[in-house]
Amino acid sequence: MTVMDHVNPWVLAIDLGGTWTRFAAIDAGGRLVVRRRRATGSDLEPERIRAGWRAELEAVAVDAGRAGLAAAPRAVGVGATGPVERGSGRLLDPPNTGPGLAGLALVAEFGALVDAPVAVERDTNAALIAEHTRGAARGADHVVYLTLSTGVGGAVLEGGRLLHGRHGGAGELGHLVSDPAGPRCGCGRRGCLEAIASGPALAAEASRRIAAGATSALASAPEPLTGAAVGVAAQRGDALARAVLDAARDAVARAVVDIANAFDPELVVVGGSVGLGQPGWIDTAERAVRARALPPTRDGCRVVPADLGDDAVLYGAAALAWDLRA
Ligand SMILES: [Zn+2]
Repeated sequence: MTVMDHVNPWVLAIDLGGTWTRFAAIDAGGRLVVRRRRATGSDLEPERIRAGWRAELEAVAVDAGRAGLAAAPRAVGVGATGPVERGSGRLLDPPNTGPGLAGLALVAEFGALVDAPVAVERDTNAALIAEHTRGAARGADHVVYLTLSTGVGGAVLEGGRLLHGRHGGAGELGHLVSDPAGPRCGCGRRGCLEAIASGPALAAEASRRIAAGATSALASAPEPLTGAAVGVAAQRGDALARAVLDAARDAVARAVVDIANAFDPELVVVGGSVGLGQPGWIDTAERAVRARALPPTRDGCRVVPADLGDDAVLYGAAALAWDLRA
C-alpha cells in the first residue's frame, strides 16, 4: 500500500441496468472521477458476464490510479435493477435483464472480484439515497421516490432509512393498480401504474387507440412507436397523443395520493425520463395531494422533480459504499 492509498480513497459505484452496466470511481468528496460503461449482456452466460465485470473493474482501477486516486477501492456499492434480495444482493428473476443475471448474488460476485466490502440495493433505493444525500431530498427524512421511465419503480425513506420490508421488496410502487380494467402489466395484473405511465405503456396505448380507428399523426410514425414519440406528438397538438398522456398523468396523480396517504412523506420525488419529460404531471400530482389526500399529510407534502438525472444510481451506490466504511 502506498501513501496514495490513504491520501485519495475512493469507492467503486456500479449501476446495473437492463441495457447498460455503468461503473464509476467516486472519491470521498463525492466527485465522479472515472466512468465506464458496458452492455449488460443479459443474454450471455454468467461466466462471460463475470469476465466483462472483471475487465471493467480492472480498467476503472487503472484509470483511478492515473487520476491520482488510490490503487484500489475502499468499498463497492451496487444499484441493480430489481427485484434484489436484501443482504445477498441476489437478483430475483429480474424481468428487465434476462436469464444470464437471474439468481446471481451480487455481494458474493463482486466480493470475489474486489478485495473490499460490497453493498447492493435495488437501483431505485440507490437513486433515493443519492437524492437524499445530494439532490432534491436533501434535509428531508420522510421521502418517497417514484421513477417513471422504461419501467415504473419506487423507494421509500422512513426516518432517514430505506424501507426494505422483509426481503428487500418494499417500494415497488409501479405495481400499484390504478385501473383494474386497464392494460395487462408485465407482472400479470391489469392496470398497474407501470402498464399505464411507463414509456412503453404510453406507446402501447397510442397504438391500441390507433388500431381501434382513432386518427393521429402517430399512425404514420416509424415503428416501433415509443413513449418519446407520443410526447413529441402531444407537444405538436396531436389530440390522441394528448389524451394518452392526460390519462397517464391522472393515473400518476391518483397513485401519488395513495402513496401520500400510505407513507405520510414530506416529499415525493419524481424521476425518470417520462416523469421529468412531463413537468405538468408533477404539478398535477401535487394539486391532487392537496385536494384529496388525508390530513395532515395533504397540507405539507410536496411533489418535486428529481435532481440528479442519469447518475443518481451511481451516486447512491457510492454513498452506500462509503457507509460500509463509516
Ligand atoms: Zn404490475
